[in-house]
Formats: sequence, C-alpha cells, structure tokens
Amino acid sequence: MSKKHNFSAGPCILPEEVFQKSAEAILDFNGSGLSLLEISHRSKDFVAVMDEARAIVKRLMKLGDDYEVLYLGGGASLQFAMVPFNLMKSENGKAAYLDTGTWAAGAIKEGKKLGTVDVVGSSKAENYSSIPKDYKVGSEYDYFHCTSNNTIYGTQMREFPKVDTLLVCDMSSDIFSRVIDFSQFDLIYAGAQKNMGPAGTTLVVIKKEILGKTGRDIPSMLDYSLHIAKESMYNTPPVFPVYASLLTLQHLENNGGIAAAEVRNEAKAKLIYGEIDRNPFFETFCVKEEDRSLMNVSFKLTDESKKEEFDNAWKEAGISGLNGHRSLGGYRASMYNAMPIESVQVLVDVMKNLN
Ligand code: PLP
Repeated sequence: MSKKHNFSAGPCILPEEVFQKSAEAILDFNGSGLSLLEISHRSKDFVAVMDEARAIVKRLMKLGDDYEVLYLGGGASLQFAMVPFNLMKSENGKAAYLDTGTWAAGAIKEGKKLGTVDVVGSSKAENYSSIPKDYKVGSEYDYFHCTSNNTIYGTQMREFPKVDTLLVCDMSSDIFSRVIDFSQFDLIYAGAQKNMGPAGTTLVVIKKEILGKTGRDIPSMLDYSLHIAKESMYNTPPVFPVYASLLTLQHLENNGGIAAAEVRNEAKAKLIYGEIDRNPFFETFCVKEEDRSLMNVSFKLTDESKKEEFDNAWKEAGISGLNGHRSLGGYRASMYNAMPIESVQVLVDVMKNLN
C-alpha cells in the first residue's frame, strides 16, 4: 500500500510508529497473550497506561500537581456542556464566550442552556475570517471560554486575553502544537482525534481548585470531581484511544517535545502560506496574517475555472483530505504534528504547477 499525503482535518494523520505499536498491542498487549481490546481496564497493565497517559500530559505542558488530567468519552462536544455544568453558578450563572467559528458557537449554545452567556467578541458577521481582539472580561463572569484554533476557518489565537475570571479553552485542533504557558488556563479540553490520537477520547486538564463552587447538582457522568476522584476510571474508559494517545504523546516527548513540534509546524506553515501569497491563483479565507492558523490552512482558488485542473493534479499526486469543510467550501490543508514537511512540499509543488 502506498501511503497518501493525508491533509484530513481529523481524524487525521498520526505518527507511523503509533500505527505499528497500536497494531502490536491489539494482537498481543505487553506479551500478555491478550489483546489490548480484551483486557480489563482495571488490570495492572492498563492502569499503568492510564497513569502514564495522565502524567505525560503534565510533563509536556509543564504543569504541577495543582492540575488534574482526565481522558473522557463524548468528544469535545460533550465538554461544551460539561464546562457550564461544572463552572457556571446554579444561581445567576453567567459566562463570557468568544465566538470565533462553528465550534465556538456550539459551545455557546450549550452554555446558554444553563445560564446567561455574553458573547464578548464575535467575527461571525465577517464569516469568521479573523479573531476578535477588542474585548474585556471582568469578574462578574463565572468563566471565559475561547477556542484556540478554528479548525474550519483556519484562524488561530496567537495570544490569550488576561481575564478577571477563569480561563477555559477548547484546544481540540492545536493542542501540543506550539509552546504556550499552559498554566494561564484553568481548564483546557481537546478531542484526541487531531494532534493526540484516534477519535474516542477527550483530554481534559483542570486546575483542581476551581471545582465544587457552583452549588449545582451535577449528573455523575458530567462531574469532573467524580472523574478525578476515580482517576479517569469512573466508568469503562475508551481503552484503545487512551493507549494510542499515550503512544502519540510518547512519540512527541521523544522527538523534542512541544518546542520541537512548534519549529516543524512553523516551517510547514511558512512553506504553504508562502506559496498562497506568491501564487495569484490562491488566497486564504483568513483575512489577517497574524490570525493565520498553523494547523489548518483554509484557502480557495481565485479563478474557479481552474478547479478541475487543480483537483485532478492533487489527487494524482497522492494527496487526500484536501477539500474544505462543507460549510465553507474551497480547500483545507490540515497539517497536524504528524504531517511531514515533505507532504506539504508535494502540495506546494502541485500549486506551483497550476498555470
Ligand atoms: N472543537 C473544535 C475546535 C473542533 O475542531 C471540533 C471538531 O473538529 C470539535 C470541537 C468537536 O469535536 P468532537 O467531534 O470530538 O465532539
């Protein structure tokens, strides 16, 4: 089988080593004579996987014991609801949200079900083509929620605001891709299926002291405190996604950690944006250079009559997953941590050859 250059937005490319080691574990986990898929999540071997999967996140993010790490089910979409359940006061609860795209809007929708939501900044009127920066968040809010990278529109927050309340961030599509002071956040969540592993688990990183202050009776499965008390094993955890996520994070740690990933991601982004800026046939959806995503490059043709020629050329070059999100059209080159720069060069060469 010849591997494709996989630009898919997620589920997406993972390091080759992760595929190999996952396959081995499915056949025989740690030489136990059992598959990873048939062992008990309470077995010594799997408890060790969960412990290390939680510990490695804190090492990579340089976070201390005041933070807890969970691997939950339900996707990042469940976090849209779990965040307000756990952080919005039961009486007169009020949160501030930044509306930077479809996923941010999804979080806002869930927040509104439990209390008052003020959208303190939005780029909706300009079809989410930039990141709003002119807003303030005061202490009257229970928390502020933002989305670090907008997977569909190809915009990314370079800086995070200083707010007078808890800072919550959906990092689903750029977690572990760049150096950030993670200690500025009170809660971070991310669906695994981009930079971390296969679909099926969601990483949640929480500053412990923020919990238990809402006066709300939280359904057990939505209660972070309960998941923490049970060390992410309140119910049967998504065993395979957690194991494959651990392998991906070990691969990251063994290859220079987040700082080295950032250098590789910047080089890939420079290569493709350089071509988009140079080539009159292409333009990005993101209107401001400072808001361009390093992970998802959403772009379009300036001359639609070139569509067939371009589509044929990238498919022939072995590229897959380049079509833009159905809500936006155009193209999207998702270049997560595991994407080699050689694949980006293949795409850039195809773009160069369009004439
Ligand atoms: N948040 C962001 C930024 C995303 O990109 C996505 C999916 O692509 C989601 C949330 C939803 O994730 P899930 O499908 O895991 O619920």
